[in-house]
Amino acid sequence: MAEGAVAGGTGSRGGEPTRGLLLVGVGGQGVVSASNIVASALMLCGHDVKETEVHGMAQRGGIVYSHVRYGPRVASPLLARGSADLLVAFEWAEVLRWLPFLRPGGGVVAAVDRIVPPAACVDRRAWASRYPALDGAPLARWAGERRFVEARRVAEELGNAKAAGSVLLGVASRLMDVPVEAWEEAFRARVPARLLEVNLACFEAGREAAFPAAPPPAPSPAPRPRAAPRIEITAAWCKGCDICVRVCPERCLALDEDEKVVVVAPGSCTGCRLCELLCPDFAIAVRPGEEERPREPGPARAAVGGSRG
Ligand code: SF4
Ligand code: SF4
Repeated sequence: MAEGAVAGGTGSRGGEPTRGLLLVGVGGQGVVSASNIVASALMLCGHDVKETEVHGMAQRGGIVYSHVRYGPRVASPLLARGSADLLVAFEWAEVLRWLPFLRPGGGVVAAVDRIVPPAACVDRRAWASRYPALDGAPLARWAGERRFVEARRVAEELGNAKAAGSVLLGVASRLMDVPVEAWEEAFRARVPARLLEVNLACFEAGREAAFPAAPPPAPSPAPRPRAAPRIEITAAWCKGCDICVRVCPERCLALDEDEKVVVVAPGSCTGCRLCELLCPDFAIAVRPGEEERPREPGPARAAVGGSRG
């Protein structure tokens, strides 16, 4: 056993415990791919493995999670609350959301990358949001081994920010009783050849780095010009359903006499993108204002987001 975080178990069979991992994140972060790699590595070690994932609104930036249970014989893939031995979180808010599923004293590998969902955004231009602070106290009260990982930065430096999940797996591998050869074989089996090298490099970086047991201080947001975003409407695609008009917190939108959406208060728009995200016909798009830097605190979500509660 490496450092013991995944020791113990959640329901024994034949004297050996069944163990459980929970991988969580949001759409586009590669949670399911990472879960498949974990399951493959465990199977290569001779474990019976059951895995299940949920990615309902993942394409809209929603929550993605995967349960993995393994042992001599596993009846069900589902982890009960308080039963996971290791929680691997690809996104900061998700580690807090899923903490109750960890058994007391279990291990946590948490990315400190933040993806602020539009619904938590009060004013995207001014960086105000209801997103939780980078505060390790709740984890310290509940978890045993804790690793806080700037996974996206590490992966970016190694050539592909999308391989951040492999950094997290590298860190997690130190808390699991799985030989490195099994991990590497699982990567070779699961990762496309053109991405294998960078993912293995990220995995190795995760294994070798000494990540802190407390989150790093959050960087102060840079002052940002308050240019109003541009709202682009494709009138031909708008069917006048009124959704965007109703969800806009700033009352920027209205339907005209032809039942097409129009912008009535462009200066009030905060760039929250709720209208864009919820339009069923992709008829509305929100672009950053001219002077505004489009950089976000975490990876930009693929096209849309906002289904996280
Ligand atoms: S949600 Fe889309 S289709 Fe509906 S009114 Fe707004 S722009 Fe038109
Ligand atoms: S117009 Fe769209 S982006 Fe602007 S505040 Fe309203 S919902 Fe948000």
